[in-house]
Amino acid sequence: MEQEVCVGSLVNVCFGKSKTYIGMVARLHSVKPQGFEVKPIKEVVCPSPVATQRQMEFWQWISHYYACPFGEVYNTAVPAKMKAPLSARVSKSKQSQMLRPLIDVSDGMMDDVCLSPLSPAQQSAHDSILTSFKEKDITLLHGVTSSGKTEIYIHLIYKYVREGKQVLYLLPEIALTTQITDRLAQVFGDDMGVYHSMFTDVQRAKVYRRQLSSEPYKLILGVRSSVFLPFDNLGLVIVDEEHETSYKQQDPAPRYHARAAAVMLARLSGAKTLLGTATPSVETYHLAQTGRYGYVRLAERFGGVNLPQVEVVDTARLRFQRRMKGAFSPVLLDAIGDALSQHQQVILFHNRRGYSSLVECKACGWVPRCAHCDVSLTYHKSNNLLVCHYCGKSYSLPTQCPACEQHEFVKKGSGTERVEDQIARHFPDARILRMDTDTAHTRAAYEQIITDFSERKYDILIGTQMVTKGLDFGGVTLVGILDADVMLNQPDFRSFERTFHILTQVAGRAGRKDGQGRVILQTKRADSDIIRQVVTGDYASMFAQQMEERRLFNYPPFHRLIYVYMKHLDASRLEPLSQQMAQLLTDAFGVSCILGPARPPVSRIQSMHIRQFIIKVAPRLSTAAVRQQLATIRTQMLTAPSTSGLIIYYDVDPM
Ligand code: ADP
Ligand code: ZN
Ligand code: ZN
Repeated sequence: MEQEVCVGSLVNVCFGKSKTYIGMVARLHSVKPQGFEVKPIKEVVCPSPVATQRQMEFWQWISHYYACPFGEVYNTAVPAKMKAPLSARVSKSKQSQMLRPLIDVSDGMMDDVCLSPLSPAQQSAHDSILTSFKEKDITLLHGVTSSGKTEIYIHLIYKYVREGKQVLYLLPEIALTTQITDRLAQVFGDDMGVYHSMFTDVQRAKVYRRQLSSEPYKLILGVRSSVFLPFDNLGLVIVDEEHETSYKQQDPAPRYHARAAAVMLARLSGAKTLLGTATPSVETYHLAQTGRYGYVRLAERFGGVNLPQVEVVDTARLRFQRRMKGAFSPVLLDAIGDALSQHQQVILFHNRRGYSSLVECKACGWVPRCAHCDVSLTYHKSNNLLVCHYCGKSYSLPTQCPACEQHEFVKKGSGTERVEDQIARHFPDARILRMDTDTAHTRAAYEQIITDFSERKYDILIGTQMVTKGLDFGGVTLVGILDADVMLNQPDFRSFERTFHILTQVAGRAGRKDGQGRVILQTKRADSDIIRQVVTGDYASMFAQQMEERRLFNYPPFHRLIYVYMKHLDASRLEPLSQQMAQLLTDAFGVSCILGPARPPVSRIQSMHIRQFIIKVAPRLSTAAVRQQLATIRTQMLTAPSTSGLIIYYDVDPM
């Protein structure tokens, strides 16, 4: 068959007695396979490859680094339609038709006119990036919020495309809005392809197919999964908002980080990588500090606009004095009133959706919990239901407490719904809009909220983390942060760093056009270092302090982390299995490197009981050897007797 197939061809293979699967040719070789039964290829489904050699190499790296099967990477990488026999089995003529560009790109492309001239500060950052690329393959652009990073990217992309190179521009899911696509489309027109996870499989297959054709897009603007697309001449990869944790895929496998993947993709392609953000991740900044990455700083906002002034309000004291009005301090209410009277817009940030975070029996304190997950339920007023934020199941409100048979319940803690209610009572004339996963559950709804708010159809936007992602509204002068403690109290070694990122980013939405924006930050921990660092914009202190803690407790970037997850429907069977696992892990890595088995903060999700181990891999250990050991342990566990129903997976560099 070596005449008929090549690496990347699709073929039919029979498994078991009658099941036929489509597979992809991974390698052509003449080595006799050992240790398993070889199945013949029944027929060739599609001789022309669905993946390039470089893609395969890259997928191999992902599979290896993130300790997951190659097939799972392939599954994520290639749209289903590309893998199906029908679409693949097209005639020669139809095939060449499909491979032609969908739109004629010969004319009207890339008018210089569409490029905005850069400010002197932007120009100098732009030039420094190019200089840095002469010595370093990876460069960090650390530019304050609203410094005009996007325009710098556009100039760089333009340059690379002009030189006949391809560019991949990565954005976090939620930041890929029409605000940004429209701006880029003005410059790059039909040379730009957009790759979004909300796209249908057919749309994704269309982009994928064009990338395989002889006329691929010159620029791909996409979310994390666009690293898996074929590129034949990649010159530059931009990872915007590189600190964003949503670049990490949590579930399903491959549990990869798109920033790390992008860096590797660029390396395999001989391309440069630009990481951009106002708030670098500790890991990235560390690499820039130690000279492994280039570093370019842009410390002023575009147009000489001032950075916003952040005022801290101590809610602990105000609560004690009974001066809080629900979730609002008098200062914040006054500031909102002022902004509204001057026809300015306000963003209120609250990182908790729903109405109340829990419902409690007034008499005995009993709290309703999800039947399938180990969490309390959140009350949602819009549909008058209790909702599990882990599995999505909803429940009606209890009428009687099952523990003490009383009938009164109290709603504790406030989410965005309740904040909306309260603000509407204070400012009955204000036009209020809410943005969280309940109101912006579709892409269209999300876009509508952004459009309406930027067209000033509303005065106040209340939202969760969604409002922090790179949005550019000219009319916003005031940002209110209702409860900074929600993030600080997360049980995670990154919670302070994350709080710094989120608060700085949300504050950065204020006063982007003129004057000086005002940010009011409510917290019970007004005296803490992290709040002071946000207020003074002191990234360096935050970094130094976090590094010190991580050094002390063997966290990244000093040690590498790998989480091990074990899941089972039956808790009584999971328990001994996790002890067995503990033994194997300790034998392999030594007792000082293994934490666990532990119950994660939520120890049951969708009826599966969960146990977790944390492996802290010392820098002196070979990571390849560690992965090899983990693979062996997993096989050993899963092939042992009485382990049916057990799931084991690894999360490398967890977020
Ligand atoms: P960042 O991504 O750094 O937060 P943006 O790229 O959103 O900042 O830019 C902030 C604002 O400044 C935007 O409204 C943008 O349109 C404007 N801007 C940036 N650079 C230029 C330029 N060279 N010419 C005109 N407007 C610009
Ligand atoms: Zn009760
Ligand atoms: Zn649940």
